[in-house]
Amino acid sequence: MKKSVLKKYAELIVKTGANVQKGQDVMVVANVDQEELVNLIVVQCYKAGANYVTVRWGSDKVNNTQYRKASIKALSDIPEWRLERERFINKTLPCVIFIESSDPDALKGVNQEKLAKISKITHPILKPFRDERENKYQWVIVGAPSKAWAKKVFPELSPKKAIEKLWEAILATARVTDDPIKAWEEHNKDLDKRSRYLNSFDFDYLQYESSNGTNFKVWMMPGVSWAAGGEYTKGNHIYYNPNLPTEECFTSPWKGKAEGKVVSTKPLSYNGELIEDFEITFKNGKAVEVKARKGEELLKHMISQDEGACMLGEVALVPYDSPINNTGILFYNTLFDENAACHLALGHAFTNLRKDYEKYSYQELIDYGFNDSSIHVDFMIGSKDMNITGYTRDGKVVPIFRNGNWAF
Ligand code: ZN
Repeated sequence: MKKSVLKKYAELIVKTGANVQKGQDVMVVANVDQEELVNLIVVQCYKAGANYVTVRWGSDKVNNTQYRKASIKALSDIPEWRLERERFINKTLPCVIFIESSDPDALKGVNQEKLAKISKITHPILKPFRDERENKYQWVIVGAPSKAWAKKVFPELSPKKAIEKLWEAILATARVTDDPIKAWEEHNKDLDKRSRYLNSFDFDYLQYESSNGTNFKVWMMPGVSWAAGGEYTKGNHIYYNPNLPTEECFTSPWKGKAEGKVVSTKPLSYNGELIEDFEITFKNGKAVEVKARKGEELLKHMISQDEGACMLGEVALVPYDSPINNTGILFYNTLFDENAACHLALGHAFTNLRKDYEKYSYQELIDYGFNDSSIHVDFMIGSKDMNITGYTRDGKVVPIFRNGNWAF
């Protein structure tokens, strides 16, 4: 990809994505195959006035080896210096820029049970640190092609051509046009209009129907709003865009209140493996039955990861004719695929969607009805003929989606 275009992308990530402020620290998390983009981002961070940029490098290959070769005990032992790092992060609250380039099959051959056991031990230790910084710092996730990811998406092309093609798709969906920053201002305005419309109703529940067998109801908490596009940090109110791209209007549903069956319309990449053609049946808000043509065991593991893993943390609306779906590309990556279709997420909910959430402790928000879990896994259920209807607490019936697209 041309350096001038990548420069624009880096600028968009730093300004519109993380919105790095003068004097702030930044942490960039990326795989070793992204040196060029990372350096452009670091340059832009300093241009924006960053104090210091830390880069944390990772590697799919080394991760795979570590998870296969090291013992569960070694992999779940968190040394004091790592806890100190968490404390330091919470004290300094750096902006975090995640560059997603992983191979969708990165953890192939790794025992999923082993991964689940490690997470069961490490999650409770790291969770209090994450809860403490929740909503307080700017972060953004963006995509960049690696060879393995590009070959997964375009298996028929040479690695070089596949990477170029995936770059084109990523940059198009991230709206890297002549003036990407302005394009995002306009896009955010449109998303804001839609979420405002949704917020003008007090929905009791939404009903989903599709010819593929989806027939599902999910309930909403009072005083919890829909959001889209950018958001503000708690305390200093800095506006940032956590996902580039984003096409969704989303909210968090009421924990324990969902009924019926949803059928997947795209494969799901979880823990470096794919789950395909699956359906999930909910009762009292819990996933009580799952079936999958591929990856059924993995799906079962996923929903039993912890108490909240079988309950929903997100409900998101994305039109079937979204720019990402219209590329016709299956990205095998949630950041992109979730923005191509209506989806739900199992696990962690977004507590900052409650009105005046700053007045409540994290635990109070969980008690109110937000789901809490170590996972947050989006899965796609949007289809060409999906209808979604909202039923309000004061008896109104509101068409939200008709034939896969916005009804308003
Ligand atoms: Zn989402």
